[in-house]
Amino acid sequence: MAISRELLEKYAELIVRTGANVQPGQIVQLTISVEQHPFAALITEACYRAGAKKVNVDWTSDQQSRLNFLYASEETLSAVLPWEEAKMKQMTEDLPVRIFIASEDPDAMNGIDPQKLSAVSQSRARVMKPYRNAIDGKHQWVIAAYPSEKWAKKCFPDADDAVDRLWAAILKTIRVREDNDPVAEWKAHTDFIEKKAAWLNEQGFISLRYKSANGTDFTVELIPGARWEGAGVTNPLNGAYYIPNMPTEEIFTSPAAGKCEGTLVAVKPLSWNSQLIENFSITFKNGRAVSCRAEKGQELLEHMIRMDDGAAMLGEVALVPKESPVNQCGFLFYETLFDENACCHCALGMGFKEVLPGGDDLTMEEAVKQGLNDSIIHVDFMVGADDLDIDGIRPDGSTAAIFRNGTWA
Ligand code: ZN
Repeated sequence: MAISRELLEKYAELIVRTGANVQPGQIVQLTISVEQHPFAALITEACYRAGAKKVNVDWTSDQQSRLNFLYASEETLSAVLPWEEAKMKQMTEDLPVRIFIASEDPDAMNGIDPQKLSAVSQSRARVMKPYRNAIDGKHQWVIAAYPSEKWAKKCFPDADDAVDRLWAAILKTIRVREDNDPVAEWKAHTDFIEKKAAWLNEQGFISLRYKSANGTDFTVELIPGARWEGAGVTNPLNGAYYIPNMPTEEIFTSPAAGKCEGTLVAVKPLSWNSQLIENFSITFKNGRAVSCRAEKGQELLEHMIRMDDGAAMLGEVALVPKESPVNQCGFLFYETLFDENACCHCALGMGFKEVLPGGDDLTMEEAVKQGLNDSIIHVDFMVGADDLDIDGIRPDGSTAAIFRNGTWA
């Protein structure tokens, strides 16, 4: 297939205009692999066409990261150097638009000690967290994808045209074709999601009940006043409507930390720290994951749940109909950006404070007091079986069907 320059430009333009919605005079911080430098140039150009003041690039490399983890000590890698902190601090002042292009090899960290990986990410996250919290909700950002050779080979190990196949899938999910106007299609798509989210918000459900023949039997309480969100977000500082994830199919909220009961059975494998957890279920008591069972990756799953105090509690519940184009692709992308948009899911770990009333201005401590979960992890796992039913329960005890057989009721 070999993707045409015209299609690539259309995609870059969509990421910059519809996704990040770069406004005249804004600084853009682009994070992209060194392998994708021609695409970085297309994005940079699209940003300047949109009126960007300056485009800065953070180049990444799977191989470089892997070598660092192989040869440098945990102590060295865990240290956040003063210039790194200064850079984050600068971001809290500039509030740049951030564009992330995902193209990682899902196996990049295979064979690296998972303890080392999580220890390094934990201690770095601890130092960076105040800065992250300070820019949260105050800048536009978007994550989109670009297929690398290794990523494509992971999805289609036996195919000679793996990259072409992954491109075809990405373009399908991102609604970019030779003959269409992706901007108009995205407008219709995001309008639909916004409409469903508005309906959920009107209902004022206090809890959700999940049921599927696969063993999922689960109830979760919602945070009073917390909003369902989906598709786009408006930057309160300049009114720019941006779409953080491309593709996006979900409507999500953060449930009340520590208030759920029952079992969730995963319907797709979970790739975490470059390793797979397969055919698993998690059982919750008094809001905490108390046991889990996995045919593959049991130890990894147990380790994940014990990462910190909030890792055993839920931070997200999300609704995605089974007709999602990601689900239609029918394969595992090994990339959360896609896989979480396949079907309904929940996430262990940190909740989203922006779903709380006035959430953008809350500190994490204040958000936790309102019932939000806090953790250094946020890991999505898919529970959207084809027969999944979800009911919403209102304060007066009445119920409404939200999902029937894996899709909107
Ligand atoms: Zn999600």
